[in-house]
Amino acid sequence: MANTALSTSNTVSDDLQLLQKLFKNVPGVVYQFQVFNDGSFCFPYISSGVFALFGHTPEEIIADNSKLFSKVHAEDKERLYHLRNASIQNLINFNLDLRLQFENNQIKWINIDSTPERMPDSIVWYGYIREITKEKEKELLIEDSERRYRNIIESSLNGFIIGKGGLLLDANIAAVEMFGYDNLEEFKTKMRDEVLDATDNRLHEIRHLRATSGKAKGEITGIRKSGERFPCFISSTEVKDVDGSVLSMNFFIDLSEVAKVEESLSKSQQLLSQAEAIAHIGSSEVDYKSGKFLWSDEFYRIHGLEPNCYEPTAEISEQFLLPEEKYKVEIFNEAPLKHLENLAFDTKIIRADGVEREVSSSWKLMYDADGTPSKMYGVVQDITEKKQLERALKLSEEQFRGAFEYSAMGIAIADRDKKWTVINDSLCNMLGYAREELLQLSFKEITHHEDLDLSLLHLKELEEGKRDFYKSEKRYLHKDGSIIWVMVVVSMIKNKDGKAHQFLAQVENISQRKEHERVLKALNEELELRANELLDSNKELEKFAYVASHDLQEPLRMVASFLQLLEKKYGTQLDDKAKEYIGYAVGGAKRMRELILDMLEYSRVSSTLIAHEQINLNKIIEEVKLNLLSILDSESEIRIEGVLPNVRGIKSQIFQLIQNLVGNALKYKSKERKAIVEIKATEQEKEWEISISDNGIGIDYQHYEKIFVIFQRLHNKNDYSGTGIGLAICKKIVDKHGGRIWVESEVGKGSKFTFTIPKH
Ligand code: ADP
Repeated sequence: MANTALSTSNTVSDDLQLLQKLFKNVPGVVYQFQVFNDGSFCFPYISSGVFALFGHTPEEIIADNSKLFSKVHAEDKERLYHLRNASIQNLINFNLDLRLQFENNQIKWINIDSTPERMPDSIVWYGYIREITKEKEKELLIEDSERRYRNIIESSLNGFIIGKGGLLLDANIAAVEMFGYDNLEEFKTKMRDEVLDATDNRLHEIRHLRATSGKAKGEITGIRKSGERFPCFISSTEVKDVDGSVLSMNFFIDLSEVAKVEESLSKSQQLLSQAEAIAHIGSSEVDYKSGKFLWSDEFYRIHGLEPNCYEPTAEISEQFLLPEEKYKVEIFNEAPLKHLENLAFDTKIIRADGVEREVSSSWKLMYDADGTPSKMYGVVQDITEKKQLERALKLSEEQFRGAFEYSAMGIAIADRDKKWTVINDSLCNMLGYAREELLQLSFKEITHHEDLDLSLLHLKELEEGKRDFYKSEKRYLHKDGSIIWVMVVVSMIKNKDGKAHQFLAQVENISQRKEHERVLKALNEELELRANELLDSNKELEKFAYVASHDLQEPLRMVASFLQLLEKKYGTQLDDKAKEYIGYAVGGAKRMRELILDMLEYSRVSSTLIAHEQINLNKIIEEVKLNLLSILDSESEIRIEGVLPNVRGIKSQIFQLIQNLVGNALKYKSKERKAIVEIKATEQEKEWEISISDNGIGIDYQHYEKIFVIFQRLHNKNDYSGTGIGLAICKKIVDKHGGRIWVESEVGKGSKFTFTIPKH
């Protein structure tokens, strides 16, 4: 602290005095600071500006320089001493910004700028201190703002690139990523035209505009590292760098992303309107302030309108309401007054196309803080089908209920304990109980004791899931003790979880049927008895016929031969009358013989002992033709249509059947024309149909049945020979083979006899 007299010395030159005068008026502090080799220091000189800055006169500082150093902000002291030491050691310029802190917490920024000079015993700095609070604050503000902007830019999702003369000076991460680079360093090695497509003219327009107006924006094409080109939006400004060169600040938005977002947005909107359309839900928005209505596409459609066909209004909405439904929308006027928030009602509308539909609508009202309504949102759903379904369901429920109640069938539901829980009137009537009485009983008490075990077994099987239902005939006991036969169908009713929890019994009173069955059975038994008796008697009869026809022949032959003997021996003694009578007697005997032979033939057909075999009908016909040669002349012809099949049967009988039919067809021919007989076979599913048609005299329909009866003829024996047994034999043969025989005919035109023979 020595040598403080310099500033006040009377020995200073005029120059020095001039300098001191100047320094007094310089804003800031001019000073001389000296550090001795022993480490002590002092201010040999300090100008009067120190007072304005530190609040102390130069004299005070010179006397006690700690007054000055104590003002240095605690956080800046270290920097100060550090720089002072460096300056001492290396004699380097001392230039430092630091803060002064005063008792009233006021902060002043100062800049100290001084140059050291080495003296033999010390180092002396000649320096200047000036206040830079204002600049510093500005600088800090800028720094702050710069940091803020840098942060914003760094964290921005938009790309940001600083360019200078075709180079990429700096960029944020978003830009690096947008252009597909791994890191900033790699990105910065690229030239501007490597990342922006210069072949896109819009880039040149932007640059031109920026050069003339300082800023420009628009859509251009970016180039990613992969070479992929992508649409981007650039917002570019030009600024001057410190050195006066031009920097460009460029913001980028990747429009391919925007395009994707737009696409997905429009997709979601589409989905929404699809969902609305599928669910038939339309939405609407009412803005109370602007009075504007908004309808979704489906809202229009629900009203039978093309979307957006016209601006919706309250009046238009109301037009669609059925007149008798209009009162329902009065609630829209009342709701704001009552401060209602939710409204919901179903109503009927007439669509634009005149079709009546049912809709359900629900609305939410929004209010401002002061209670005035602001908006109303609503959804309207076409519920016509739903309502129809509901009605159908109700109807069906009613119908089922009706079916249950009025069913002629008894219906009952029993719980797992087999106690009735629901029973219909029919069951009550059937069993003779009042409903309340029957509900007290279980099915066991009304089941006949002989049928109980089986019923219980059935129920057990149902419960165990071994069967879905059972159907059985059983006996119930009427209240009066009589037995009622019923057909019951019992199944299990399953609950929603699929678990069986109740029995459903449908009971049909079959007592009458059972009675009929009983009577029928008795009748059948009776019938069977009779049939057997008949069979026996038939057999007897056949036996008798056989025996009779066989045994009768001998006496008949005797009658005939003795008559002939009588005529021979006594012919001369007999007159013509006697001879005529003998002739009649012989004729009668002959005829009787024929009849007896035919009867024998007929009775033979009954024999069941002969085995069936395959028979070729074609061969049979050939044999028949041979047999009938005597009546086959140039006036008759037998035609066979196609090839006849093989059939199973008794060959001799089938032969006889066909011979009889063909024989008749030739015998009963028309005198006016040549006889043509056609034989044809038609295959049916289970049988062969064989028909023999002729163009003969025909049969009146009233005789269709009669002709098949034994000994029934339509003609005199003089007109047509025969005994009337041929068709009876045919019928018997066909019957025995399990077939049928019938005739179709027209008198004068011909007849068609058809018989069937099963295929087996
Ligand atoms: P019959 O020995 O008299 O021929 P059938 O039993 O064979 O006996 O025939 C009974 C009757 O049916 C015949 O008398 C005849 O009147 C009539 N009849 C049978 N076949 C024919 C036919 N093809 N055309 C017309 N009438 C027939």
